[in-house]
Amino acid sequence: MVDRVLVTLDGVVRDPGEPLITADDIGVLRGDGVFETVLVRDGKACAIELHLARLRRSAEALELPVPDPGRWRTAVEAAAKEWGTEREGQLRLILTRGRDGVDDAEGSAYVLVLPVAERVGKARAEGVSVITLTRGVSVDLAQNAPWLLFGAKTLSYATNMAALRFAARMGADDVIFTSTEHRVLEGPRSTVVIQRDKQLITPPARQGVLPGITQRALFAEAEKAGWECRYESFFTADLITAESIWLLSSVTLAARVSSLDGLRMSAPEGAEEISELVERGIARPWKLADWT
Ligand code: PLP
Repeated sequence: MVDRVLVTLDGVVRDPGEPLITADDIGVLRGDGVFETVLVRDGKACAIELHLARLRRSAEALELPVPDPGRWRTAVEAAAKEWGTEREGQLRLILTRGRDGVDDAEGSAYVLVLPVAERVGKARAEGVSVITLTRGVSVDLAQNAPWLLFGAKTLSYATNMAALRFAARMGADDVIFTSTEHRVLEGPRSTVVIQRDKQLITPPARQGVLPGITQRALFAEAEKAGWECRYESFFTADLITAESIWLLSSVTLAARVSSLDGLRMSAPEGAEEISELVERGIARPWKLADWT
């Protein structure tokens, strides 16, 4: 069974053990590039059209050459096929600004599939313990300072990973970032959704959070099933009074928050419905144009 797959944008399957990026790639030097993380299931990349659309949006925000969705689609299909149907995989689409000082119009572009992290199964089944941490910014900042690239999925994830390591030192599995106004933002690698009765609420993208594909998939299915779904700002205090809190992301899918800042949050009745709605949502036949 292969344990990693590498495909370049020309559709060629490469040896993942061989070097691909040069030492002067600006993606390495400055984290200047964009990416997507996608779940591979049954040999297919889930909701790939939404990921291709968001990759384009991120590239535009960084003024990178807009990726041709057709070529990415071909590379993704080749990578997912190579990965096989036996187990899930974590597929990344990577696009960097390319080599420093070299006319590198296309940048470095490739698709990489790795095994899904071990924590994922446990997070899906048992949920995650979470601490809230400040991001130290106002919810207004994204609108006033577009150069900060909030809402674009850039390769610069060092602070997000540092927040997760900080949480681990505190004995927690994950993090919910908050603004200086104590409003809820997002996780370092997930969208936050709260549930009250038959309502689902997530912070709006204008607050500087990444628009989530898994959250979008959940809302599409939940609305069909009679839930009321809203994009609305809410506070840290609203987390505590919610019936359930969810961290949604493309690979883990739905992880219920089982404790928040040390406070146990027991599962409400029917909590598994949310996970089922997510599963159905990501399996929908999404189109590129569905990402608006
Ligand atoms: N917010 C951030 C900062 C993320 O990194 C991610 C995913 O990695 C998400 C939200 C969730 O997005 P998606 O459901 O599209 O994976």
